[in-house]
Amino acid sequence: MSKDNKVHIYNRLFFKLYLNYSVMLLVTALLICLIFMKLYGDMTMKNIKTQMEDRANRLSTRASEYIISGKEGFLDELSLIREVNQWDIWTISNPYALNPMRVSMETGDTYENFTTQEEYKPYVESINKAFQGENDQQERDDKVYEQTIITVSSPIRGVDGEVVGAILIVSKVGDQNELIKSSLYYIVLSSVVALGIAFIIVIIFATELSLPISRMRTTALELASGNYKAKTGIKRDDELGDLAKTVDILSEKLLENDIERKKLDQMRLDFFANVSHELRTPITVIRAYTETLSDGVVQEEEKKQQYYSRMLSECKSMERLVGDLLLLSKMQNPDFAIEREPVNLNQVFDDIIRGASTIADKKNIKIEVVKDSPVNMILGDYDRLRQMFMVIMDNAIKFSEENKSVHIKIEKTDKIIVSIKDEGAGIDPSDINNIFEKFYKSNLRQNASGTGLGLAIAKQIALKHEGTIEVKSTLGEGSEFIFSFLPLEEDV
Ligand code: ADP
Repeated sequence: MSKDNKVHIYNRLFFKLYLNYSVMLLVTALLICLIFMKLYGDMTMKNIKTQMEDRANRLSTRASEYIISGKEGFLDELSLIREVNQWDIWTISNPYALNPMRVSMETGDTYENFTTQEEYKPYVESINKAFQGENDQQERDDKVYEQTIITVSSPIRGVDGEVVGAILIVSKVGDQNELIKSSLYYIVLSSVVALGIAFIIVIIFATELSLPISRMRTTALELASGNYKAKTGIKRDDELGDLAKTVDILSEKLLENDIERKKLDQMRLDFFANVSHELRTPITVIRAYTETLSDGVVQEEEKKQQYYSRMLSECKSMERLVGDLLLLSKMQNPDFAIEREPVNLNQVFDDIIRGASTIADKKNIKIEVVKDSPVNMILGDYDRLRQMFMVIMDNAIKFSEENKSVHIKIEKTDKIIVSIKDEGAGIDPSDINNIFEKFYKSNLRQNASGTGLGLAIAKQIALKHEGTIEVKSTLGEGSEFIFSFLPLEEDV
């Protein structure tokens, strides 16, 4: 996938998040509007009904007072209330009463009118209820008013408490609906404003979630294209932060691997350069001597013998180099297993000292051995172990001045520790970490003939025996190489 492989807007996480939240907000706003309207409508209706009922009760009490006192003026009071509330109010005399209500208190239509005229018939039920002494309340769509109306009726009582008439109040609810509708306008308006604000918050929120993801995508693409320094730069405490941290760890690991790979490439190149370099000198020498000899320029037999012996020594050094390299590559192969048999290290050292004393004697170097036990057994390959200690002994003698000593100590604790200590030149602290590298050699005079492979081979042999090798050294005072191995327990 390339960097400019754009994700279509509809498939973008940001768009999907935005859409989801927006739909959610819209649905919520709509639901709130509907619930609010329903509650508001119900509440308003209930208020009107209570108000009408209350008024009807009070008017019927008031009418009773007028009837009992015989005073006039009730209708004037009624018309005032009618005007204020925009209600239709009737007082109807009860024709079945012993003492029906005075005509002067009737609002105009008799009970008979209600029972006979078509448009009044719907009210008869309410009036009859009032005549029976009960309050009544009804809500219905009315044909005459052409809208919803509320009807409330209440009995008017005379002197003996007899129901002498009824009060009937009618209110049009259409006006209320208008009110609800106008309030709906404000609800919708405020919802739209709230939605607008919510959408801005949603944009911020969706960006907050989608931005880190697109940043991680960019980083992943950078990593895929080989830029291992790319980092997400995201610091968050949530799951996205965890994921970004993982991507950053991945990029660090890739960078480390890349550095390691480059280092290995360089080592391989160095290795080839070193091998070529090491082989060039002997080959050049052999070629020059062979040419000289074949040209017949050299006549003296003694000189010829000198040439032959130099050529032989160069061949030997090439043979040693190739042998060392073969051994090293064999040792570095993880599949190569050394032979494992019980080996007494004391015996190995007896063998080594016999071999090393010839070169040691030439420089009058004393070899001192301390063994704290007659046998120090480990499991391993006798010849390889001998070769390993020989490298160290060779160096110890090579880098020591005449008349010095080399101290060998073999001790057994929970491990077998072998120390070979010389009183020689010592190793520069800046070199000490490199001496086990292939082809590493200091430019000391004693080193002219070395290949720099000895310690690398010794280390590989130690590792193949599950052992360790360490070095301590002070420049000008000497060096100590310390080995440790797991002892073979059955030896005692
Ligand atoms: P070489 O085969 O050339 O001797 P080695 O791998 O054995 O190479 O040693 C590598 C380098 O470590 C040497 O060139 C030398 O600088 C240093 N070295 C090893 N042993 C000693 C020692 N006993 N004293 C001082 N320097 C040493």
